[in-house]
Amino acid sequence: MPDTIDLDGLSIDSITPATPDALSEIVRVAHTTSKPLYWVGGGTSLDAGLPPRKAGTAVRITLLDNVIDYPARDMTITVQSGIRISTLQEILAKEKQTLPLDIPWPDKATLGGVLACNTSGSRRLAHGTPRDFVIGLTVLNDQGRPTKSGGRVVKNVAGYDMAKLHVGALGTLGPIVQVTLKVRPLPPARAWLAMPLLGDALETACDRAHGCQSRPVAFDLLALPGGPVAWTAMIGFEGEPDAVAWQVSRAKTEFSNLVKGNIIECQASTVDAMATKLAERTDPAEGVVLALGCLPSRTAALAARVLADLPGAVVHALPGSGLIKTVTSALVDPRPLLAGWRQAAGPGGWARLVRAPRAWKTADATWGTPRPESTLSSAIQRELDPKGLFNPGRLLHQP
Ligand SMILES: Cc1cc2nc3c(=O)[nH]c(=O)nc-3n(C[C@H](O)[C@H](O)[C@H](O)COP(=O)(O)OP(=O)(O)OC[C@H]3O[C@@H](n4cnc5c(N)ncnc54)[C@H](O)[C@@H]3O)c2cc1C
Repeated sequence: MPDTIDLDGLSIDSITPATPDALSEIVRVAHTTSKPLYWVGGGTSLDAGLPPRKAGTAVRITLLDNVIDYPARDMTITVQSGIRISTLQEILAKEKQTLPLDIPWPDKATLGGVLACNTSGSRRLAHGTPRDFVIGLTVLNDQGRPTKSGGRVVKNVAGYDMAKLHVGALGTLGPIVQVTLKVRPLPPARAWLAMPLLGDALETACDRAHGCQSRPVAFDLLALPGGPVAWTAMIGFEGEPDAVAWQVSRAKTEFSNLVKGNIIECQASTVDAMATKLAERTDPAEGVVLALGCLPSRTAALAARVLADLPGAVVHALPGSGLIKTVTSALVDPRPLLAGWRQAAGPGGWARLVRAPRAWKTADATWGTPRPESTLSSAIQRELDPKGLFNPGRLLHQP
C-alpha cells in the first residue's frame, strides 16, 4: 500500500527508494509518463514556496543516508542527501568537527532539505548559509542520470559552480542525491547572553553589536508575547574557553547601559532548543509564518514595525543579515500588511508568507513581484526540467 503525504494541502501517494539507482528509475518513469515528482526529506519545510497544485508522487529521500567518504583531516565529508542533520553532526563530533548551521528539528531534517531551502539562522553572522558549505553535489537530471558538479576537495571549482544553483532551488532543478561539504572545527566552548533591552535601545543595540570588540558569532533580536520587555537581544559566542569567557565579560560591559534588569547567561543547548520551540509554533493551526528581508541597517526599524502591526506576534530578527521571521495568530490575515512592509524594507527588500492557509498563499503573497533575474531562472528551469517534472509550481516562474 502506498503511503500518502500531505504536501502543503495536497494529499498524494509517496514512495521511498532505497538506493540511488531506484531513485533514478523513478525519475526515468516520470520522464516517460510526464507525472510530477515531489521530493520529501524530513518534511519540516514542505510549505516553503507556493503550494503544489498538480497531482504527482512524493518521493521520500530519507533512506539515502550513507556516509560515502569522511577524510576528517581534509575537513570535508561526502554523504548521501537523506542523512539526518543530527546523525551528520554526531559523526562530525567524533572528529571534533561540525556543520555550524542552526537547523530546527535536527532529528528529522535531512541535508537535502536543508540545501534545497538554503534557510539561515543565528550563526549566519559568522559562518554564512548552507550554500557556503557545499563543495560538490550530485543531482539527477530529468532523465534520471546523475550529474556531478564541484568535487571532494576545497579548491576545485573551474568554470560554472553548478552546485550552488541547486542550493535554494527548492528541489525544482532535480533531486540532490549526494553532497560534499566542507566542515569546521567543533568549538570547545559556546555561550549565549540574553539581554532584555530598554524600550528605546533597539537601534543602538544593533549598532553596538556591529562595532563591538566582543565579536559575537550571533546577534538576534527576539520579541516574545507576554515578556517583561518588548525586545530581548540574544548574543552568542564560540571558540576557546578562555576567549569565550573574555568575550562574555566584555559584552556585559559593552551592552550594560542598554539593558533593563540583568543580563542572563544561557546554556547553548537552551538556545538550540529555543530555535526548535519557535519552529514548533509554526504549526498552521497555531500560527502563520512570515519572512522578511531588508538591508541590515533597516532591520531594527522593520522588526519594530512588524511587531507594532502584529501585536502579540513572535518576531525573530537577525540584524547582521537583514532577516526577520515572525509567527502570528492563525486568526490574523497578514496579507494586507505585506505591501507596506515591502515598501518599508527598501531597495531589494521583501516580505513573504511562508506558512499559512493554502488559499492565502497566492503568488504575490508567497513570492512578491518577480525580480529582474527571474527571466534567467525561468530559462534555466526550462533547460534543466523541460517537462516540469520536479516540484512543479513551487517557484513563481514554474508552470
Ligand atoms: C522556523 C524555521 C526556522 C529555520 N531556521 C533555519 C536555520 O536557522 N538554518 C537553516 O539552515 N535552516 C533553517 N530552517 C530551514 C531548514 O533548513 C528546513 O526546515 C529543513 O532543513 C528542511 O529539511 P527537510 O529534510 O525537513 O526538508 P523537507 O521539508 O522534506 O523539504 C523541504 C524542501 O526541500 C525539498 N527537498 C527535500 N529533500 C530534497 C532533496 N534531496 N533534493 C532536492 N530537494 C529536496 C522538498 O521538495 C521541499 O521543497 C528553518 C525552518 C523553519 C521552519
